[in-house]
Amino acid sequence: MGSIRVLEETVASQIAAGEIVERPVSVVKELLENSLDAGASRIDIEIDAGGADRVRVADDGSGMDREDAARAFERHATSKVRRSEDLKAILTFGFRGEALPSIASVSRTTLTTSTGAPAGGCRVRVHGGKSLAIDPASHPRGTTVEVEALFYNAPARRKFLKAPSTETAHIADLVTRIAAAHPAIAFSLRSGGRDMLTWPPVGSHRERVLQILGPDQSASLLEVQRSAAATRLTGLASGPDLQRSTARDLVLFVNGRPIRDRRLLHAIGEAYVTLLPRGRYPLVYLFLEVPPEEVDVNVHPAKTEVRFLRAGAIHDLVRDALRDALGVERPFYRASQEQHAVAEPVMGRSHGPESEVAQVAVPALARTSEQTLLHHETIVPLAQFYETYIVASGPDGLVILDQHAAHERVLYERILARTASGRTLGQRLLFPVLLEVSPRERQASEDAAPVLEALGFGLTGFGPGTLRIDEVPAIAPATQVERLVRDGLAEIMEWNRAEGMDRLRERIAASAACHSAVRARQHLDLPQMRQIAADLMRSVHPMTCPHGRPTLLKLSLEALERDFRRR
Ligand code: ADP
Ligand code: MG
Repeated sequence: MGSIRVLEETVASQIAAGEIVERPVSVVKELLENSLDAGASRIDIEIDAGGADRVRVADDGSGMDREDAARAFERHATSKVRRSEDLKAILTFGFRGEALPSIASVSRTTLTTSTGAPAGGCRVRVHGGKSLAIDPASHPRGTTVEVEALFYNAPARRKFLKAPSTETAHIADLVTRIAAAHPAIAFSLRSGGRDMLTWPPVGSHRERVLQILGPDQSASLLEVQRSAAATRLTGLASGPDLQRSTARDLVLFVNGRPIRDRRLLHAIGEAYVTLLPRGRYPLVYLFLEVPPEEVDVNVHPAKTEVRFLRAGAIHDLVRDALRDALGVERPFYRASQEQHAVAEPVMGRSHGPESEVAQVAVPALARTSEQTLLHHETIVPLAQFYETYIVASGPDGLVILDQHAAHERVLYERILARTASGRTLGQRLLFPVLLEVSPRERQASEDAAPVLEALGFGLTGFGPGTLRIDEVPAIAPATQVERLVRDGLAEIMEWNRAEGMDRLRERIAASAACHSAVRARQHLDLPQMRQIAADLMRSVHPMTCPHGRPTLLKLSLEALERDFRRR
């Protein structure tokens, strides 16, 4: 007798449920997406015990009539896709027609709904995949789905649920992301009978993000905006003064759908690479609008990953949009619209060749700001502390500069600016230095020869295991020549091609700046301190060194007066 059978409907649903319903947050996600697809303008979510005991999602969307309400629990029953061509341009969140039957197969589910028609609504109950009853019920226009005792009939899976607080955190996170993408919809989340999140409808993504983060963050958030062909990117991004220790606030939406995408995370990383230290993350909410036929959302059962037709172009769009937004970010001196307009024509792209901005745009900024205070004169060095820090008076408080980090930032931008403008940066050594190198180092110097040359390094092979150094960037002190070259080669070996040539240039420039900058525990006189402070305030990104460490800290007058109880 043959042993292959077609699976019983309930079993098939339970298997599908394994893919779709991993934990309570997946239930919330599917129900929320259904409410969004139904055109809801308010969605109220309630959970008990992290959603394991109860998830309830109520919306004021289209609702369903009795026939549709019953059919909604059949597998592959969907009102959203009819023909396979429809899959090429999916505009709704759902389309597989699997969520409700999957959820109902591993819980006790009740759906109450009404289209608002005079005939009234109905209630459908499905327990463990078995339909129990359809009864008349009263409900305002919209739908309420209640999912109780998740995995009650799959004890092995119920056992693996995390602590309620963990599940609750995941749900709050999800609701936050979805709410961010839909500012015009009111959202609320109650957990264990207590209000957790309540967001009335607002008119823009920015307002919704501020509801989420709190209005204090408003000043630190930059607008991101850029389009290319039919793709549009908008959003908000933090400047370097607002940092996170986890990547949780890197939030991406494609056509309103929250997604994970390693390539886009990489693009964000590239934009911030010289602004944030390793292991620190910005806060970024990005909303990408892509023509539906250019993105495939049907690559992951939970629809959290997508595939772009032109992934490379989208990566670059995200990176460049962020760099643009960050390029105009100035912590002490925010250029007004008008001043910005003066600086714009010479700025061009604001990164990689970012320091071109430092060289070319700053005179324009300084000139137009002479009505006001010249921003680099607002930092007046007073003394050196511990031969490491420059103590200065700032526009509204005391400023402490890390002399090495500050100088590093200045030199870094100078090197890149010179390179970008094609001016010679190298300085011939009076006596060439011979450096013994490994075969890998030798190879690296050849691979990156044009970049090294553009940065002012003159290196030639001198026998198999030796390089002759004829020229190094002019900023380098004579004592550092060997270190400079050795570490430059190390950067080339660590670099990988996917990062692109600009990034290699930045890496070598950062390493050269590091070796050339004044060190900690090095005495500086007042004119030297003034020079560093003035140069730093003229740079494009004065707040961080090229590795993302802060260059200066502020102690505000207000904080001083408060702590001395003057007010
Ligand atoms: P999908 O969303 O993939 O179509 P689901 O199993 O999630 O599949 O839902 C099945 C169908 O039930 C949907 O296509 C929709 O017609 C209907 N439905 C589900 N939830 C709602 C809701 N909250 N409001 C209105 N209709 C709904
Ligand atoms: Mg659905």
